[in-house]
Amino acid sequence: MLCFAIEATAHTFGCALIDSRGNILADNRDMYKKEDGGIIPLEAAKHHENVKNKLIEETLKNLSNKKINLIAYSRGPGLAPCLLVGLKTAKELTKEFKVPLIGVNHAISHLTSGLLFTKAKDPVYVYVSGANTQILSLEGKRFRIIGETEDIGLGNALDKFGRGIGLGFPAGPKIEELAKKGRYIELQYTVKGMDLVFSGIVTQAIQKFKHGISKEDLCYSIQETLFSMLVEVTERALAHTGKKEVLLIGGVAANKRLCEMLKIMCEDRGCRFHAVPLKYSGDQAVMIGWEGILEYSFEKRNDFDKANIYPYERTDDVEIDLTSISKE
Ligand code: AMP
Ligand code: MG
Repeated sequence: MLCFAIEATAHTFGCALIDSRGNILADNRDMYKKEDGGIIPLEAAKHHENVKNKLIEETLKNLSNKKINLIAYSRGPGLAPCLLVGLKTAKELTKEFKVPLIGVNHAISHLTSGLLFTKAKDPVYVYVSGANTQILSLEGKRFRIIGETEDIGLGNALDKFGRGIGLGFPAGPKIEELAKKGRYIELQYTVKGMDLVFSGIVTQAIQKFKHGISKEDLCYSIQETLFSMLVEVTERALAHTGKKEVLLIGGVAANKRLCEMLKIMCEDRGCRFHAVPLKYSGDQAVMIGWEGILEYSFEKRNDFDKANIYPYERTDDVEIDLTSISKE
């Protein structure tokens, strides 16, 4: 089975071709970027409108003489104007290719494709993207959220801090670079049970910048603080579930220091650490295609007549079945 997939939940518009064995035939993306300030949903949607035809064309070039059997799109969670571009594009392609259409959850796609991109089998999932921060475990047919952010996602926390000290969007990679030259200064540390709270720490760090503390020291310290909070909850999740692996997923998984901290914790506990490779840690359509194939394989669902967007759909709202995974 060959799936054409579309991702358009936030900053990235992506198109991919992936088959049911996990072979990736095409993976094309274009990310909306801004020099200052955060993402403006309508602007991001306009960006997606502008790049989509070019990306579809590039993707279809890789089809050669194969046939598309399924169209998948990300139905949520995400920014409504962006999701609508994805939905509209998916419906147009479905009409053109006359195949079933399947809408999937973006967060679940990150999680299930993590098993495709790494050797993890039954891990505690640490999902840290721009908008999301969750520590999860698959129990039966549902992802259970063991811990999560009570306010903003880890990536957004880093971006918000970056905005406050004059770095552009996305700020995560710039913070990682500056942190290499920084020293530790104390910031608040807010773990509440199994949940995390980031906003207050971001505000405090921006205040300290206004009082003359260097960007480098603040970048280093905010990374050490926020990442330690995440590692603490992840360690407790391993203890509670008895699982022996951690799988790091989402755009913030690109951060080498975060990987190092989680790896040290895992090794201390005799567990294995996996991180989704850099190429697939951020938003892309390959994962949407993989989740589309998984769901289609066990449900034979066609969403065409009721296709919609779900900007607030939660990871634990959806039932999934991983038994049909057959990666080679
Ligand atoms: P996603 O929403 O999964 O595409 O991830 C995007 C988020 O990842 C943004 O908030 C980025 O700032 C963040 N990010 C990307 N690269 C890094 C990095 N090297 N370190 C920290 N955060 C990063
Ligand atoms: Mg994402």
